Amino acid sequence: MLNIILFGPPGAGKGTQAAKLIEKFKLVHLSTGDILRSEIAAGTQLGLEAKKLMDKGILVSDEIVINMIDSKISQNPKANGFIFDGFPRTLAQAEALDKLLQKLNIPIKATLALEVDNEELTKRILLRGKSSGRADDQDEATVRKRIEEYTNKTSPLKEYYKKQGKLRTVNGIGEIDEIFGALCREIEK
Ligand code: ADP
Repeated sequence: MLNIILFGPPGAGKGTQAAKLIEKFKLVHLSTGDILRSEIAAGTQLGLEAKKLMDKGILVSDEIVINMIDSKISQNPKANGFIFDGFPRTLAQAEALDKLLQKLNIPIKATLALEVDNEELTKRILLRGKSSGRADDQDEATVRKRIEEYTNKTSPLKEYYKKQGKLRTVNGIGEIDEIFGALCREIEK
């Protein structure tokens, strides 16, 4: 089984690269952002609650996303592997994921961290906002808040995975296929 965490700030290109990686390695894509947006689209109570925070660029509660991931993993018992995209985003989420995977005896092979500077991130997200229809991609203050949430709560996880010997950093600026190649090399190491 091949389990990969795709790590990096908002706008780093995780979604783009995840789509290419799932095709190449036949993995199941678990994006907490996508799952939350499908809850919003379905008009569920959870979606309504999450939307309030997402529109402000604030992380939703650990409990909500951990439960979502737990149930998606159970729904895919025959998976070749999972690619975690946008999860974990806090230390509590990382610890919960480790516990969950330990129980199932399916460890994480690597945490691939895409590195892009804040100015480039803001530019990319605001550009994406013109076509993505995502409210959180269209307002500069929200974009800055998301980057701040990443810096404060998520980026410390690099140290967590480094200590486990699983962190691989990849430059997220360049051609999409070039970055994809670099990610594949890290996976196949
Ligand atoms: P991006 O990586 O571009 O910020 P995502 O789709 O991953 O886009 O996330 C959009 C929003 O969804 C986040 O700003 C946050 O509010 C919420 N979200 C997604 N994943 C998580 C998570 N693991 N923990 C908490 N909140 C999350």
